[in-house]
Amino acid sequence: MSGTVLTFEQALSMVLEHARDAAAQPSQRVEDVLLESAAGRVLAEAVMADRDQPPFDRSTRDGFAIRAADAERTLRVVGLVRAGEAWSGAAVSEGEAVEIMTGAALPEGADAVVMIEHVAVEGDSMRLNDDRAGAVQAGMNIVPRGAEAREGAGVLRAGTVLRAAEIAVAASCGRVTLPVTAGAAVAIVSTGDELVEVEEMPGPLQIRNSNNYALAALVRGEGGEARTLPLARDTMEDVREKIMAGREAELLVLSGGVSMGKYDLVEAVLAELGAEFFFTGVWMQPGKPVVFGRVPRADGEWTYFFGLPGNPVSTQVTFALFVAPLLRGLMGRREVGPRFMEARLSDDVKGGAKVTRFLPAEVTSAWDGVTVSVVGWHGSGDVAANARGNGYVVLPAGGEELNAGNAVRVLLR
Ligand code: AMP
Ligand code: MG
Repeated sequence: MSGTVLTFEQALSMVLEHARDAAAQPSQRVEDVLLESAAGRVLAEAVMADRDQPPFDRSTRDGFAIRAADAERTLRVVGLVRAGEAWSGAAVSEGEAVEIMTGAALPEGADAVVMIEHVAVEGDSMRLNDDRAGAVQAGMNIVPRGAEAREGAGVLRAGTVLRAAEIAVAASCGRVTLPVTAGAAVAIVSTGDELVEVEEMPGPLQIRNSNNYALAALVRGEGGEARTLPLARDTMEDVREKIMAGREAELLVLSGGVSMGKYDLVEAVLAELGAEFFFTGVWMQPGKPVVFGRVPRADGEWTYFFGLPGNPVSTQVTFALFVAPLLRGLMGRREVGPRFMEARLSDDVKGGAKVTRFLPAEVTSAWDGVTVSVVGWHGSGDVAANARGNGYVVLPAGGEELNAGNAVRVLLR
């Protein structure tokens, strides 16, 4: 079977294209959730303001509501207005002030709020401090009605991940429930004759199946629904049986069996089932054998699949770079891309690799900057080193040697 090996940049943009297409399809299943269980979910429909926000001209300070034109004068305090109350008087007239609390509605007639810290109060009169009076303008310390959002205006877009900030907006619009996309079902199939399940005692040359657990955790971390299938042995029949079961999910993720070895059968089985391959390898390390495509289901619809290399670090890196974005797209998310940041290297790193490299690394965020140090490791089977880091330094293909202090790109996980 002939293959298509892409550069890392090409592969990433190919995946992102599919992810964004998927996100734009209205095919996601939608369910309603209570606001208190909405965190982390993807909003399925836009949320509109149910009234002007703020619903009245709101004071942003504790102080006095006055007419800006009166700022230079001594004013008579004619009342007080608290948040949640309307001032009892009709209108603030020339020469008058009304004491006002943060969040209260501006009384009729007033057009500015001056801060309590900037005035001298004596009995029932008040006067702005001389150095402040000249700076008062109409509108000062007031958010006009509807300035944040007009009734009916969109305040949250479909495809937004709901976190505290977004949930606060929904609550302020009186939403008790929100429509969110259902978690996409992701079938996970690990392949390999050498593998044993975690509950079993491995023979001296056997390897515990750790990828199923890593992949399930990664899928759930994205809000997907992980469906782990039994291990596939390295025979055409067994791999076929597991792929045929797994393709009924919305996304099929396979681990192992995609390299050049005699028993790497995943691609052959997928081809036999009529799969379309978008790429069959990427010039990157770890992760070169990664495969992306779609395979027809029994009902003739297509299911996206990834064949990830079985080495656990490769599996996790390729998930973060390729699987996570597509999964986000399948769940209707607007932002799908992997999370990159820039950090300063704390040690020198050899460059010059022909392919894009991802080195397990520890990112430390501090007030004076973000630094990253590469973790010593023994290649892409080294799960322990991988767990000592919290991200990966990205070394671009053909890049120069990098020195301590250089800015590098980091893939966060
Ligand atoms: P493969 O991609 O099938 O050639 O496997 C590459 C390496 O990853 C081998 O050393 C495998 O033993 C290891 N490996 C494959 N699948 C898993 C898995 N599910 N859990 C842990 N290690 C694995
Ligand atoms: Mg294998």
